Amino acid sequence: MSTPTQGFGTRAVHAGQMPDPTTGSIMTPVHFTSTFVQAAPGDHQGHEYARVSNPTRSDLEANLASLEGAEHGIAFASGVAGIDAILRRLRPGDHVVSTNDLYGGTYRLMRQIFEPYGIEFTFADLSTADDLDAAMTDATKLVWIETPTNPLLRVYDIEALAQAAQARGASVAVDNTFASPYLQQPLALGADMVLHSTTKYIGGHSDVVGGAVLTSNEEWAEHLRFQIKAVGAAPGPMDSFLLLRSTKTLHLRMERHCANARTVADFLRGHGKVGRALYPGFEDHPGHEIAARQMRDFGGMVSLVLEDDTVETAVRLMQNTKVFALAESLGGVESLVSHPASMTHGSIPAEVRHAAGLPDGLVRLSVGVEDVDDLVEDLDQALAAL
Ligand code: PLP
Repeated sequence: MSTPTQGFGTRAVHAGQMPDPTTGSIMTPVHFTSTFVQAAPGDHQGHEYARVSNPTRSDLEANLASLEGAEHGIAFASGVAGIDAILRRLRPGDHVVSTNDLYGGTYRLMRQIFEPYGIEFTFADLSTADDLDAAMTDATKLVWIETPTNPLLRVYDIEALAQAAQARGASVAVDNTFASPYLQQPLALGADMVLHSTTKYIGGHSDVVGGAVLTSNEEWAEHLRFQIKAVGAAPGPMDSFLLLRSTKTLHLRMERHCANARTVADFLRGHGKVGRALYPGFEDHPGHEIAARQMRDFGGMVSLVLEDDTVETAVRLMQNTKVFALAESLGGVESLVSHPASMTHGSIPAEVRHAAGLPDGLVRLSVGVEDVDDLVEDLDQALAAL
């Protein structure tokens, strides 16, 4: 049993989950079924057809909603499926303002899938509410905020931006993937909905792809549930189970990710071969003050640009690491190193990346939960070998 007033760790372990009444099984059963028997047409026990809902998925949705302080949770087959479902509420002529540093797949979805249907997008640096105000038009229906951003780790003021957007009638969605609900609670800061790629910190073990949207706004919740029913990007029961297994340790993992990232960031900053280390926990990071206010800690992501800022040297660094694995994605227990310009952000044209301040030589680290001495030693030997 859990209640909304309980602490994050208690809700992470218990919210949305009751021992199975038929067997006493303490873990949520994996309901491998496509349909549910009805006593008479429409007379069922809450589930009709598994595209629309499945009990394992419903428990996951209740758990994630509790962790974000939301009334409603809608789980999707991937993070981009969740973003797609949000954007489907827009109509030709509607306008969206988004942060200009964001996951490349979100940019691709907006520009290559939705723009041809007549929806307009402006990508801007939303450092202040005035920046947002200048980017909005009378047709702006949605403001998309990623913070901390992928991969530049910029930090945006959710509360100030939400107020500015809503004052002009736009809804506000925050991609909270980099922070996780443990570190940042966008709904409490005024956002209308939160998007997660549950593939990342929520899943935490690099063994599942998923997404979720959490909201207390009834109209958005109704729209999103209709999308699951009508479009069908629903997660399966096994993936839902894996995610429920994972959220139980989210708070523990996040604390270790954050502690390790801080040590790694400090090490990189002091290293002669590193030109710039990007980490919101640095006191001179432009978004540090906002991050300290709106986040519990500064997250597990660190980006860097080498002193010898060429793609070739960056690639050599990535190939030199032995504990950090060279792979896309983030948020798993294992440390990863990646090259955004050619991997996660390859679908953003080079000139757009450069205009947003993303250098081709930038290296992104997802700092895992291994022993931090081993992580620092790995980076040390990889840098020494350049
Ligand atoms: N949002 C962010 C910040 C991401 O980094 C990603 C994926 O890397 C996504 C959304 C998309 O999630 P998924 O890969 O689960 O579709």
